[in-house]
Amino acid sequence: MVSGWRWVWRWVAGSEVSRLQLQWRAFAFVLPQPLRTARGLLRRKRGWLLRLQAADGRVGWGEAAPLELDGPESWDAVRAGLESLAQELARRELELLLTRAGTPPCLAFALGAALAELDGLVAPEGWLPAPPSAGLLPAGAAMPEALDRLLREGPGLPLSVKWKVAAGRDHQERELLELLLQRLPATARLRLDANGGWDRPTALAWAERLAQEPRLEWLEQPLDPADQPGLELLAAQVPVALDESLQLHPQLRTTWPGWQVRRPSQEGDPRPLLAALQAGRPRLMLSTAFETGIGRRWLQQLAALQAQGPTPTAPGLAPGWSPPGPLFAADPLAVWAGARSSGSNPGSRRSDGPAAERPAAGLG
Ligand SMILES: [Mg+2]
Repeated sequence: MVSGWRWVWRWVAGSEVSRLQLQWRAFAFVLPQPLRTARGLLRRKRGWLLRLQAADGRVGWGEAAPLELDGPESWDAVRAGLESLAQELARRELELLLTRAGTPPCLAFALGAALAELDGLVAPEGWLPAPPSAGLLPAGAAMPEALDRLLREGPGLPLSVKWKVAAGRDHQERELLELLLQRLPATARLRLDANGGWDRPTALAWAERLAQEPRLEWLEQPLDPADQPGLELLAAQVPVALDESLQLHPQLRTTWPGWQVRRPSQEGDPRPLLAALQAGRPRLMLSTAFETGIGRRWLQQLAALQAQGPTPTAPGLAPGWSPPGPLFAADPLAVWAGARSSGSNPGSRRSDGPAAERPAAGLG
């Protein structure tokens, strides 16, 4: 009889603990300068912050924000996903949602991140600071001046530099490459990110020029993800890192033997990536999708774990490409408060509810 009551008590307590309160807040911000890529301009970021609270008071934070380059439909899909969520959910319902086909990856990131934080999985000994980031150089003629500034004011040596290519005329970019190679210190590392914008002949010409270049770390997504055979051919000549291919064909995350650009806030539940890095998986490079302070804690934590692994490399945190303000604070509470002033509709009755209000339009 006693054991029966004990069972009932456990069942009731367990049910309470597994109920989770969800709150969302919209945010929006404009990048200090638009980022030009082969896929288009990235000018701003819009999305939602998640506050997930367990019945015992534990809190986890998340962030759901697709990239503008993925088109407005990806943003609408997140909004629809949020509107389908109740304000209070059983944990198993959230876990099911995470694995359901059609859940936008950035929404799965928000939920998985918050659950991992609730469970004390992500930073059991406190959030780690990120190692120094690679510098991000703009495409085209703006590159040399940005490089000089980076060499003057950057994190010092050894320096990792990522330059956006395939965004303008190829012969001009080839001239700029020669200038870059002249000015880049001997100890620096160079990544060239074409965002899938080259054709095979162009990519092969660049690979030929750089095959003996000791500072080349990798060509990043040199060809369209549709040309996987071409990417494999190229990888036989120079190191090739996949980026957009991994988003289109997530199975490549388990099969591509070379470098992988991993953008945690855009690729779903972050717990498998966290576990992989904790287990010392090589050749994963952590990269930003211009997160708020909440997503950025994750990026920094994962980058710090990467640096402790067998193939440490500078993460891509795009220093200087986020505007100032509370949205980028290290304290999630400050980010949460900042979202109210940046993107929420203060007059909305449901500003903290499950339905996602539209972030302020017309920003940039
Ligand atoms: Mg890239």
